[in-house]
Amino acid sequence: MQERNPTQDFSADAFGFNPGGNAAPATPSAPDPAADGMRAALDWSAYASYGQGDAYAGIPARGGHYARAVAVCIGNRQCQRAERKGVMCPSFRLTGEALHSTRGRVEALKAVLNADGTEIDFDSPELAAAMELCVGCKGCKRECPNGVDMALLRTEYLAQRARQHGLAPRERAFAHSTRWLERWPWLGALIRLRNRLPLAARLGERWLGLAAARRLPEPAPRSFTAPPPAPSAATDRPRVALLVDSFTRHFEPGNASAAIEVLNAAGYAVEVIAPAAEDATPQRALCCGRSLLSNGLVEEARAEARRLLAALAPAIAAGTPVVGLEPSCLYLLKDEYYSLGLGAEVDKLAKLAFLFEDFVAREHAAGRFQLAFGPLSGEKVLVHGHCHQKAYGGMKPLKKALALIPGLDLEVIEAGCCGMAGSFGHEAEHHALSLQMAEADLLPALRAAPQATVVADGFSCRQQIHDGAGRQAVHAAVLMRRAMKL
Ligand code: SF4
Ligand code: SF4
Repeated sequence: MQERNPTQDFSADAFGFNPGGNAAPATPSAPDPAADGMRAALDWSAYASYGQGDAYAGIPARGGHYARAVAVCIGNRQCQRAERKGVMCPSFRLTGEALHSTRGRVEALKAVLNADGTEIDFDSPELAAAMELCVGCKGCKRECPNGVDMALLRTEYLAQRARQHGLAPRERAFAHSTRWLERWPWLGALIRLRNRLPLAARLGERWLGLAAARRLPEPAPRSFTAPPPAPSAATDRPRVALLVDSFTRHFEPGNASAAIEVLNAAGYAVEVIAPAAEDATPQRALCCGRSLLSNGLVEEARAEARRLLAALAPAIAAGTPVVGLEPSCLYLLKDEYYSLGLGAEVDKLAKLAFLFEDFVAREHAAGRFQLAFGPLSGEKVLVHGHCHQKAYGGMKPLKKALALIPGLDLEVIEAGCCGMAGSFGHEAEHHALSLQMAEADLLPALRAAPQATVVADGFSCRQQIHDGAGRQAVHAAVLMRRAMKL
């Protein structure tokens, strides 16, 4: 059974990261005797003892451990403050409506879990309305005084709905986009055509609900292929296992190349993680399962996670650091993987997994990162953090890593969610709201510094910055490679 500390502090030590205070479950998924008809897709056993013996915990009548996770909210309504600046939940900041706050979602969930009936009604329109604008940013897990994890609660809600009804074509496309691109590379040409023909974009909006006003991300002409291992790999250089996520692989492979160059130059032997020898589909690239999980396809995400864990087994056994580039993918390994019932290896992996700049800052502090950067004297750099980077204490190491470049005039934009939130900004009904979220802080800050270089590690953040401000943000690894060449 997992253990959970609801007052977890993700920022306390970004290097010796404690992934949600969770310990690996001894069994893949502990039985949930109180589930009362609910067959949970995720493993909620971390909450099994929540509220035990507390008559005021307000645990819903049905839903077992999932209901206990909902009841973590103590109802102090800090997420509904009238002064909205600085409130954690971007949808409440935008609308000011209680329904669109974390508490509002908790109340909607409690209503369906307490309702009479043979089945728990995850189809309730009230619940759908409450969940609609949750962008899964993890702001609540980080900032709510009791650590309510609405992003994870919402994943279960989406999984329950997907189990009953399947996915709509649009959500299916979002969930499988990178897998489809790999299987049918000609889809890239179709996307480029759609982006250039307004009629095609309008048809895409009518038939699929994809915002016509939004350019779809175009795959790179060539997806990432791992370079042959450098001769140094055979030496006693410290090893690093690089996780090239599906977004980097298909859309921005240059980010992986930049990270490899920086790490090689700094004295590491980089090995790109490849499918395990016993993998049943070795020709298929590895994927962490992020886009599947974000759309409620828990079983499929679990299968991808298992493939990745098998591929990582040698690195885990050897204690090799696992470095990733995309925050939403890397932090998935350190957080949601605990809820997928994957066994004890998850805990070992969580301790070895680092976002690129977390790793750089950690290694530099330990005196192992052997690379001096040239100056980018006076260059103004604005940094926009991905929601999950902020939620898991990743901003401090990001600043420390970039501060290794002499002469940078570095400024972190004080902003909440950029509003793109994976696929949210591409949904026709949410496109305008998505840009409004960006207008709260991010876009004004970019406009105030029109010449600045913009660093954003998140794939969807970079899209939003491009679409909202016409600027091309870069991954931190790309800026570091540029400084390396001076
Ligand atoms: S979600 Fe958190 S901040 Fe909001 S009412 Fe519940 S405990 Fe308070
Ligand atoms: S995950 Fe983000 S959008 Fe959803 S309830 Fe939490 S803070 Fe709000």
